[in-house]
Amino acid sequence: MKRRAFMQSAALLAASGISNAALAATGDGEPPKEKARVKRYGELGKTGLRISDISFGAGRLTSSALILRAMDRGMNYFDTAPDYGQSEDHIGEALAKSKGRDKVHIASKYCQYMPYTAGKSHLQVGSTQAEYIAVVESSLKRLKTDYLDTVFVHALGESTDFEKEKGRLLDPEMLAATETLKKAGKIRFLAASSHGPNHMEALMTEAVRSGHFDYIMPAFNFMKFPKVPEVLKEAKARGVGVVAMKVLAGAKEGNMTFDAGQFEQAAFKWALSHPEVNGLVITIQSAQDLDLYLPASGQPLTASDQKVLDHYAALYDSDYCRTGCGDCLGACERGVDVASILRYQMYFADYGDEKRAMLSYAALDTNGSACAGCADATCEQACPHRLPIRSKLEAAHRSLNLPFVA
Ligand code: SF4
Ligand code: SF4
Repeated sequence: MKRRAFMQSAALLAASGISNAALAATGDGEPPKEKARVKRYGELGKTGLRISDISFGAGRLTSSALILRAMDRGMNYFDTAPDYGQSEDHIGEALAKSKGRDKVHIASKYCQYMPYTAGKSHLQVGSTQAEYIAVVESSLKRLKTDYLDTVFVHALGESTDFEKEKGRLLDPEMLAATETLKKAGKIRFLAASSHGPNHMEALMTEAVRSGHFDYIMPAFNFMKFPKVPEVLKEAKARGVGVVAMKVLAGAKEGNMTFDAGQFEQAAFKWALSHPEVNGLVITIQSAQDLDLYLPASGQPLTASDQKVLDHYAALYDSDYCRTGCGDCLGACERGVDVASILRYQMYFADYGDEKRAMLSYAALDTNGSACAGCADATCEQACPHRLPIRSKLEAAHRSLNLPFVA
């Protein structure tokens, strides 16, 4: 993601009136200012955990030093996974250095240790109880800890087959392994997450109603997710916690004219303004991200924040594929998984995660090459947000197609 200069951010923060949310000295003779910190901790359902409202997504973590900085700034919830490269190893190193294991909450996933492989690292139905236990044991070694606070059944909705995904959510082998791990003191809580692209709301509702999950982590942002608020309300009513993710709605900055951090802070405040949301996870890649994001902690959504979000929504309304929407599911007779391709293109173009995007695209059975000769584009008629899907998929194919893949 592009970043403008630190000075722009400092000007924004001064304008925001947040007195102690300031950046470090910029080397121009100014004395160092107090760094922005976490200001609010949310009760996570009935878990008893109080998590930083803005929490650390470690999907692209490359050093233990960044974890230590985040802990120093008040972050106490760290979301990692075995398939996030060396993320667990770096967190383990930070935990060993800080001797502060009891002050933070670590969430990892029921998945195998391997480079990103388009969701294939997540344990599927057919895995044994022993295999579920083994991946957690393996995470504990890398994290240099005796226990995980949470293990997730992660990324539900990768497949268009609802029953298959529901089966993974409620896999008896997984539930039995979870009980065994809890009894052994190796995990404390079970959670479920989905960023779609298929059946997100339905799968999160199943998780909430099942009684097996302590909290959920759905995609949730200001770009109109009409059915997510119902899921959140039911979660709250049943004492199931909510951590939001994908709150930046694609994180497109191309045509934005705001200062650095202004859009992100507005988006965070919007998500956190919902009483059902106990906290959010955002990918942190640098100390600058902490400076840009943490001024939003504990702050209310203002009218000027809403204007920023409205401006973004107007710019990208017919460009942003809503994570988890899936309304075009089944509309393509050629079987093109529209939402997945548009998500991989988002990873490629907006997140700068080209490798993951291209590997994921290469694993698809049918890709955007099918769109070139498609005359009627029935998918576009199914999209309530009027996305020009055919041209977007053709462009995605040009970006994502590996030259050596047919
Ligand atoms: S443009 Fe045609 S081939 Fe491509 S996804 Fe839409 S309906 Fe399918
Ligand atoms: S292309 Fe349109 S209908 Fe399909 S998932 Fe995206 S927003 Fe929903």
